[in-house]
Amino acid sequence: MDPFGRRIDYLRISITDRCNERCLYCMPEGYRGWAQRPDHLTTAEILALVRVAVGLGFRKFRLTGGEPLVRADVVELARGMAAIPGVEVIGLSTNGTRLAGLARPLRAAGVRTVNISLDALDPARYRRITGGNVADVLAGIRAAVAAGFERVKLNVVLLRGLNESEWWPLVRFGAEHGLPVRFIELMPVSHADALDAARFVSVTEVMAHLDARDRLVPQPDPRLGHGPAKYHRLERTGALVGFIGAITTQHFCETCNRVRLTADGKIRPCLGQHGEVDLRSALRRHATEAELAALLRLAIAQKPAGHTFGADFTPCRPMVAVGG
Ligand code: SAM
Ligand code: SF4
Repeated sequence: MDPFGRRIDYLRISITDRCNERCLYCMPEGYRGWAQRPDHLTTAEILALVRVAVGLGFRKFRLTGGEPLVRADVVELARGMAAIPGVEVIGLSTNGTRLAGLARPLRAAGVRTVNISLDALDPARYRRITGGNVADVLAGIRAAVAAGFERVKLNVVLLRGLNESEWWPLVRFGAEHGLPVRFIELMPVSHADALDAARFVSVTEVMAHLDARDRLVPQPDPRLGHGPAKYHRLERTGALVGFIGAITTQHFCETCNRVRLTADGKIRPCLGQHGEVDLRSALRRHATEAELAALLRLAIAQKPAGHTFGADFTPCRPMVAVGG
């Protein structure tokens, strides 16, 4: 439990701060702040921390980044994690561009759920937002469905002036493929130009936009995820849609269940606060499991009641280096 009575059992592990895309809201233009390769935790170091986390009651883990699929040993890492008793769920967050070739090996290694970012279906719009090729992502989505993950979800960041015309087509696409689509409010977690207030769209606005096309019916089912999304089903299309209103939802942080591990070995108790606890130095001076556990406990104890995005929060690391 953290100081606010929240049970923290979910560790999101960024395995690299590198990415093969450059989303406008995540990676600042011309970004050169990469961690040095030797500063990235090795597979063995990550597995050691997962063992310690399980000992403290963590049960759910997510591989993220940067783009986790640019790391060559991602399958080996997933397999190693799945073999640790107490690891119940391994999820993956990916931009999907490399998933076509990796979906099957990752599923076989023990990854159970996948979240794929898809901010637009139109190739030109997708390229403008991410710099990438949407055809690769669509191939990745097909491969993920074929590989038999327990859940595949699509994540859409709401961007005024960039993807409003895509919201409804994305919902239709999700419905056609049986995939929940989650709309995410833009958070000020990078220095990027796209994080201008003029780009911000609230989840209330997108809900009204969708409700005007098909009636939204709230879905209270808690099995839909471990996260903060509020789910609705669209009556006619049958689409399942989630809304992550980190900025406008009151009490958003009250059910927070997670901490983050950065690729360079720092635990971030909260995405919306700067505090970090350094585990890499401890790992590299061969700290005991008990010492590592004490540091992880310290990070949980440092979890604030909530983020401070509303109070002129300025990020110290861009999102690509924190891990989403
Ligand atoms: N590369 C993978 C991907 O794109 O899914 C995993 C890492 S990415 C940082 C994780 C998630 O964070 C993605 O769904 C992305 O859209 C989201 N994200 C990044 N920057 C964001 C921002 N400024 N506001 C809201 N969501 C953001
Ligand atoms: Fe890369 Fe994901 Fe960030 Fe886009 S959101 S730049 S794909 S890490």
